[in-house]
Amino acid sequence: MLCGTCGPSRRESLSGSYLLTCHFPFLSRCQDPRMLLSCIDFRYITDVLTEEEAYEILQKGQVGKKEREEQMLMHGYPAYTTSCAWLGYSDDMLQQLCTEALKSGWTRFKVKVGADLQDDIRRCRLIRDIIGPEKTLMMDANQRWDVPEAVEWMSKLAEFKPLWIEEPTSPDDILGHATISKALAPLGIGVATGEQCHNRVIFKQLLQAKALQFLQIDSCRLGSVNENLSVLLMAKKFGVPVCPHAGGVGLCELVQHLIIFDFISVSASLTNRMCEYVDHLHEHFKYPVIIKNASYMPPKEAGYSTEMKEESVKKHQYPDGEVWKKFLAAQGN
Ligand SMILES: [Mg+2]
Repeated sequence: MLCGTCGPSRRESLSGSYLLTCHFPFLSRCQDPRMLLSCIDFRYITDVLTEEEAYEILQKGQVGKKEREEQMLMHGYPAYTTSCAWLGYSDDMLQQLCTEALKSGWTRFKVKVGADLQDDIRRCRLIRDIIGPEKTLMMDANQRWDVPEAVEWMSKLAEFKPLWIEEPTSPDDILGHATISKALAPLGIGVATGEQCHNRVIFKQLLQAKALQFLQIDSCRLGSVNENLSVLLMAKKFGVPVCPHAGGVGLCELVQHLIIFDFISVSASLTNRMCEYVDHLHEHFKYPVIIKNASYMPPKEAGYSTEMKEESVKKHQYPDGEVWKKFLAAQGN
């Protein structure tokens, strides 16, 4: 739906009218950076990244590209798991899931925090005891706190050595994130955000304000593959690692293409980089992600890996699908 008072950028991101297809080899094997750049809208971001600078980044990215592609095909892109430590899990459950994840080769874990400080301290201690001091731990507050509260709360959780605190406050509060980043830097805790960030301009300001140390693109929240490309390039310019948001329904399937492209053609680095993984709802997809040794293995099928199984779509169709019929009957409708 478009309205006459929307500026041009709003219209594009709302309509998603210029989607670029995204299969990672298509993007990364593109020999002509100009072609990729022609898909990116540089309007409103040239104060931090011009088309020429982006061209230089992609040109530099040509060096060693073949080796990086081989590396991906062989070892995959490093992932972390969010499946072990949701809020509301019992300690037994948490212990069991972390132990199983360790056995399956996971080395990076994310825990949800922010509901109750004493509860967080107990759960984080439990997780650290299980995973040990060397494994990576991240925390996610899902926008729970005001700015001072975020700083105070995280100071109390610093002993558990989190790599980052994710979405400590309102995702729209760029300067608030900058304040938190500055306050937590001496504790060695970075700020991660971006899963609610819907366009390149907000990401530009987050980067300009030094408001984040880990940039979390979301393949659906940003209006298109094109918009994602502009953010990957800005992150490279600022030297901020991209660690995509995933989970949901099909987000892992989508974002794997973007992050593997980022490694092969833009960042050329795995330092402090990893992609979120949540182990649910993959069974509805025709080409679900493949995780091996806690890494995303590059998808071999053409396309963006989002085709759902016909059977799943049929079952979940409103109001006649099997799932809805049962649900509505239980509600007495
Ligand atoms: Mg999150």
